[in-house]
Amino acid sequence: MNRRPFIKLAVGASLASVYSRAQEAQAEPKKLGWALVGLGSLSKNQIAPALLKSKHSRLAAVVTGTPAKGVEWREKYGLAENKVYNYENFDKIIEDKDVDVVYIVLPNSMHHEYVLRAAKAGKHVFCEKPMANTAKECREMIAACEKAKVLLGVAYRCQFEAHHLEAIRFGREKVFGALKHVNAEFGFKIGDPKQWRLRKDLAGGGALMDVGVYALNACRYLTGEEPVEISALETKTDPVKFAEVDETITWQMKFASGITANCMTTYNFNGANNFTVTAEKGRYGMGPAYGYSGQTGWTSDAKVPFAFPPSDHFVLEMDAFSEAIINGKPFAVPGEEGLKDLLAVEAIYRSIKNGKPEAVEKA
Ligand code: NAD
Repeated sequence: MNRRPFIKLAVGASLASVYSRAQEAQAEPKKLGWALVGLGSLSKNQIAPALLKSKHSRLAAVVTGTPAKGVEWREKYGLAENKVYNYENFDKIIEDKDVDVVYIVLPNSMHHEYVLRAAKAGKHVFCEKPMANTAKECREMIAACEKAKVLLGVAYRCQFEAHHLEAIRFGREKVFGALKHVNAEFGFKIGDPKQWRLRKDLAGGGALMDVGVYALNACRYLTGEEPVEISALETKTDPVKFAEVDETITWQMKFASGITANCMTTYNFNGANNFTVTAEKGRYGMGPAYGYSGQTGWTSDAKVPFAFPPSDHFVLEMDAFSEAIINGKPFAVPGEEGLKDLLAVEAIYRSIKNGKPEAVEKA
């Protein structure tokens, strides 16, 4: 038999398969495996559906203390039995090569422990806001991730949304001149009096820790500066429901350049969900600003448009984190972002307690 045509065919076939594999690789971008720790409302309704739509992230495992939830999630997302961990065997995730990122979606007080455990397992860690209950814990979380050489990201999803990014650009490029003042508010009427959000040991605080941090974080990214001094007041209309945590807080911040901010957060009523920036030559703002959807922008100058199509913030932030890992680049919202917010939060609580303005500790 003449071997030549066979060799030709074999080479041709293998070249074709190499070519088709290369094409496949091009068509299918690399997806990192994410493990969700805590299968509550946010994981179920926002994060898991977002993982199905993500370009660089996919659901690889879950961690739950409720076996029935494990069964439910296995069925819904086609996870193998060994991809459902519990809080006791969680550390075994170190052996799971399918998991690149661990996403902590637990009550606030548990973020610290689980970020440390995930870092120890050599996994990159994405942590819900507020990053922890204290600045001290944030520092320990940052140090643990540095030691383990893993990336730590804080889930401030607004920092990936188009309107917020445009508002940041307005400030950096002085589109309306130098910034002078920011007004930012976020709150809602909280329901069930038995939930963990009203327990100091689990939540670390009330409205401020839960949603006030969005307004605080916005003031920091809109100005690109850190607050140096804060003055705060607390108002309580229901001392029974809010026996352990804050109900409504108003606070003022002074930034080094002289920019000022006026903020409010509440668990007592709906509707406050906005910011306004006043600059030398005009104003701009958003309302609604911080929810999962409905972002609406406005400016004082009809020639400067401020409208973008809706987006899934969870897809954006998780893909940005995966891409940072894939490309070996820093992540836009690292642990330091959570720490800086907690330093301001602590100054707010100190000011309420001491009845005077308080300096914000430097990161
Ligand atoms: P949730 O109450 O719906 O879920 C919490 C999960 O933690 C549940 O699965 C619960 O079983 C588990 N858990 C484990 N130990 C617990 C304990 N001791 N007490 C209570 N629950 C315990 O809460 P959620 O709304 O999913 O919030 C989880 C985290 O996500 C919080 O840090 C919250 O601030 C954050 N969050 C962020 C956003 C956002 O837009 N980024 C929105 C909502 C919540």
